[in-house]
Amino acid sequence: MLNAQFYTTVAQLADLPADSEAEVAFAGRSNAGKSSAINAIARHRRLAFVSKIPGRTQHLNFFQIAPRRFLVDLPGYGYARAPLGQQRAWQSLIGGYLARRPALRGLILIMDIRHPFTELDRQLLNWFAPTGKPVHILLSKADKLSRNQAINVLRTARALLDEIRLGGSAQLFSGPKQQGLEEAEAVLRAWLGVPRGGVADDGTAETAKKNPAEGDTAGQTVP
Ligand code: GDP
Repeated sequence: MLNAQFYTTVAQLADLPADSEAEVAFAGRSNAGKSSAINAIARHRRLAFVSKIPGRTQHLNFFQIAPRRFLVDLPGYGYARAPLGQQRAWQSLIGGYLARRPALRGLILIMDIRHPFTELDRQLLNWFAPTGKPVHILLSKADKLSRNQAINVLRTARALLDEIRLGGSAQLFSGPKQQGLEEAEAVLRAWLGVPRGGVADDGTAETAKKNPAEGDTAGQTVP
């Protein structure tokens, strides 16, 4: 089980945590299921809804998994009516973060399995590809399709990742059905260097990193 605590909200690149060692970013179109996925993976019901608080929707929200190791919730994209100025600010914050963050180990891209690889998803992948860092795709809301249909989309997604030569992997995911949680958690643990029940690669025992108030730290930050 991953144990995440809200850490900080960042509105500009200059404010990124300075001593971070490893980060995994979560991105996706608005409504793709990103917050639900983060909450399910972190076993918190409301953790990621921090990012839906007015004033924080355009920011990077950091959740600490272990000391100096973070899950980073990027703002959802694809609001058709977002003003141009806001779209530009989004691009410079997210683009700058994805392209030039040494601590960033990989990108988790959440796509609604019924609407995968939209234009904006492809743009994001194109931005990220030059970093050479890995991408893992969660095809969310897999419960909305039959098993066969879902597997077909998964195959197509994997083929497309190969085609664009991105070091990428993909999986089915459903928060409500608890589908794909372990697979997603394994990717996060590997990228962040936080092995299950093991020792992080900074040598600290993982048990020492656990939040004793497991269950409702999110309640302190979400009104
Ligand atoms: P975000 O905008 O990407 O953070 O999306 P949310 O996590 O807020 O989810 C958007 C909507 O999709 C909400 O109504 C969720 O309840 C629903 N949703 C998210 N994930 C799933 C899923 O895996 N299965 C189903 N059936 N609904 C989901």
